[in-house]
Amino acid sequence: MENKKGLLIVVSGPSGAGKGTILAHTVEKYPNLKYSVSVTTRAPRAGEVEGVNYYFKTVEQFNEMLKKDAFLEHQKVYDNYYGTPVDKVKEQLSAGYDVVLEIDVKGALDVKNRYPDAVMIFISPAKRSTIEERLRGRSTESEEQLKLRTDSAIEEIKQAVFYDYIVVNEDARQGAMDIISIIEAEKCKVKNNKKFIDDLIYGGK
Ligand code: 5GP
Repeated sequence: MENKKGLLIVVSGPSGAGKGTILAHTVEKYPNLKYSVSVTTRAPRAGEVEGVNYYFKTVEQFNEMLKKDAFLEHQKVYDNYYGTPVDKVKEQLSAGYDVVLEIDVKGALDVKNRYPDAVMIFISPAKRSTIEERLRGRSTESEEQLKLRTDSAIEEIKQAVFYDYIVVNEDARQGAMDIISIIEAEKCKVKNNKKFIDDLIYGGK
């Protein structure tokens, strides 16, 4: 039951929902899943590594890429630009890998419009209070940025209804298992196995 092309998985969720940790566990447990590294104009946070967390670019470099149509989608999120490099995603999907984009809600809806087969997963914190606690714990943002991110988190949660699945982050490892279950269920969908069925019927073996 093999899919030639991998699945395109889109993951969003408010800041402080713990998306990063869940996805790190998911990729570790499920090597067929590749994390798409985005381009951003935001400054690196402590511990972030070029090419691992993001490709860090200037606004000029970002605009150059935009002109060259290098993004599958792009958005301004808070005061910075973010974009998904299209070439790598296409290459990995064609090679049979599943690819996960960790992007904001607006970018996610753009992807869904362009690729209706994309699997949309929303990661939510278990409690409202967790959002601010996590953001404070990270303590990389100013008070003003913190308020902006907390307010937008609530706005983002309203968009969860446009997603296919919600994963509640009570425990990052369980969250990763939930994502893997979703991927495996998607791979078993009849619509993703049409070729297999045709081969059984008409393959003559
Ligand atoms: P952060 O600055 O905390 O890393 O990310 C801020 C927001 O931007 C998060 O919601 C994250 O998912 C989103 N984001 C990261 N990369 C991309 C991207 O390539 N495209 C879009 N649309 N959003 C992104």
